[in-house]
Parts: sequence; C-alpha cells; structure tokens
Amino acid sequence: MRCLVTGGAGFIGSHLTERLLALGHDVTVLDNLSTGQRDNLAAIEGHERLKIMVGSITDQLFLSEAVRDVDAIYHLAAAVGVKLVADDPVLTIETNIFPTEWLLRLAVQRGQRFFLASTSEVYGKNPKEQWTEEDDLHLGPTSRPRWAYGCSKAIDEFLALAYHRKYDLPVVVGRFFNVVGPRQVGNYGMVVPRFVDQALDGGPLHVYDDGSQVRCFAHVREVVDCIIGLVDTPAAAGGIYNIGSDQPVSIRELAEAVIERVDPSIEIDYTPYSVAYGSDFEDVRRRVPDVSHLEQAIGRRPRMTLGEILDDVIRWKRALRNDAKN
Ligand code: UDP
Repeated sequence: MRCLVTGGAGFIGSHLTERLLALGHDVTVLDNLSTGQRDNLAAIEGHERLKIMVGSITDQLFLSEAVRDVDAIYHLAAAVGVKLVADDPVLTIETNIFPTEWLLRLAVQRGQRFFLASTSEVYGKNPKEQWTEEDDLHLGPTSRPRWAYGCSKAIDEFLALAYHRKYDLPVVVGRFFNVVGPRQVGNYGMVVPRFVDQALDGGPLHVYDDGSQVRCFAHVREVVDCIIGLVDTPAAAGGIYNIGSDQPVSIRELAEAVIERVDPSIEIDYTPYSVAYGSDFEDVRRRVPDVSHLEQAIGRRPRMTLGEILDDVIRWKRALRNDAKN
C-alpha cells in the first residue's frame, strides 16, 4: 500500500511511519516540523520507500500534491498538547479543522482509506468512571482555551463520519488516550517525559494540584499497532474507537513510580494549577477508556504495564543524555 502520514515526523506519526515501512508499505510523510522533528525520522531517513514532504497542512496545494498517489491517509497532523493549545487557540482551530475537511474531500475523490487521529479530550470532563464511544461530550465553556482542542477534534469527527455516511468513505476515528514512549517531548504538557527529565535532573517532580487526578498511559508501539489494525479492518470503517490503556493511575502514583525507578530520595513538589497553566485552566480529573469496542474490532488493545512503559522511557532518556555528552 502507499500511505500518507500527516504529522509523520511527530511522536506518534514517526513510530507509525517506521512500522508501515517495516510492513513493506510505501510512506509519504507530510510535516511542517513545528512540533514534529526531523530527528524523529533519523533511523529511516533515506529509506527507499520513504518520501518526506516538509510543509503545512494548512496549504491546500501542498495537500493535494501529497495525497495524489496514495491508498490510505493517516491524518495525525494537528496542534496538540494541552499547553500548546491553551497558549495558541487560534492556531489550534486553524490547524485542526479546515485541513481535515480538505483532506476528506480529496480522499472522497480517490476512495482512499482514512484514519482520523482524535483524542480523549473530546469527552471533556465527563464524570463517568470509564468512557465509551457513545458517551456524551462534556466540554467546558468557550472562555476557557483548553476546550478549543477537544472541540476542534469533535468537529473533525463529525466531518469524518459525515463523509462516511454521505460518500461511503472508509473512515475510521481513533480517540487517543494518554500515549507515551520514546520521542515524546515534554514542552507541550505531557507529564511522563517531564517527570522523567525532572527525576534525571535530581528532582523535585512537579505534580500539579494534589496529584489525585487519574490517567491511563499506553505505549506508542501498541497504539501504532491498533491504528494499523483499524485501517486494515474494513468492518471498522465508519466507527469511533478509544485507543489507550484502561489501567488507571493517579499522577501522584505516576510520580512515585518514576522516583522509585530513578532515585528514591527525590521529592515531589505540589504546584497549583494556576501557577502551572494560568488562572483560566481547567483540568480533567479522571480519564479512563473502555476499550472493548477496539478489542472487538481488531482483537487487540494496549496491554503494557506502567512499569514497562516507564522503563522504556527512562532508558531512552538516559541514552539521549549520554549521546549529548559524547
Ligand atoms: N501534570 C503534572 N505535572 C506536569 C505535567 C502534567 O502534574 O509537569 C498533570 C496534569 O495536570 C494532568 C496530568 O498530569 O492532570 C496529565 O497531563 P498531560 O499534559 O500529560 O496530559 P492530559 O491528560 O492533561 O492531556
């Protein structure tokens, strides 16, 4: 297959690109290298079945050039990360909405398979213990920039499903929960790389609020397998799928697990949300997916434990630091 990965130099996109190449596919990566990094593709740069196009998905001509000869589009390019989105809501809206519609239109002309990367942010602050794909979206007020991200992705989902209904486009929507692993950077929120860096620097770890907020962390390799599984399963088309781990952990427990692995003498510093993100920030207190829909569709779901994931991230960060020293 010939595949296009928008955002292919990003954290998840670069892992997806590697995997698609390893499976024997041709891959075109489209990335503007804003949050994505060329270094993420270092291991595969020069590969005979890889083409890298540097440019923005907000450029319509560039998009139509990129989709021309492909069979499947993995649309991962977006303004991502709670911090980035809170800092620049205009960029979020422009990057996350119009280009998705253009891409869907282009895909209809060619009947291309389409994976839309969406996010657990669309559930907002739904108070349920575990979220299923048919649950209501509980977004906060438009005066709070955090919700611009989830709302923009919800519009993308509406668009994708509408194109499926109206034109029978084989679209599949994946809602990523917290995805972690090597190459994730901590500049845009992203608690795991931040905690690991803080620990390797000798601490303290900056836990926001009291640390009782809950997340589930999945390894990027397993998430990539789920994306590919969904696109390769014709019966999955037209559906929405939570993609993530369903093992809840509080942020305090996460900090303790990092400390235990790096240096048990490191301390935790509790920082108010207002200091971390500014006064108009709202956090999501609990975010746990029900992944049975995913498992029914493709026969798999992310299963790595938090310990295995942290060991992998710590190993990667240590190697990076060693390389930087030498
Ligand atoms: N968090 C934290 N310290 C940090 C970064 C994040 O305590 O340095 C918390 C944050 O408030 C949230 C959780 O960790 O409750 C996950 O944050 P992240 O930005 O990784 O992703 P989110 O799930 O909020 O999109």
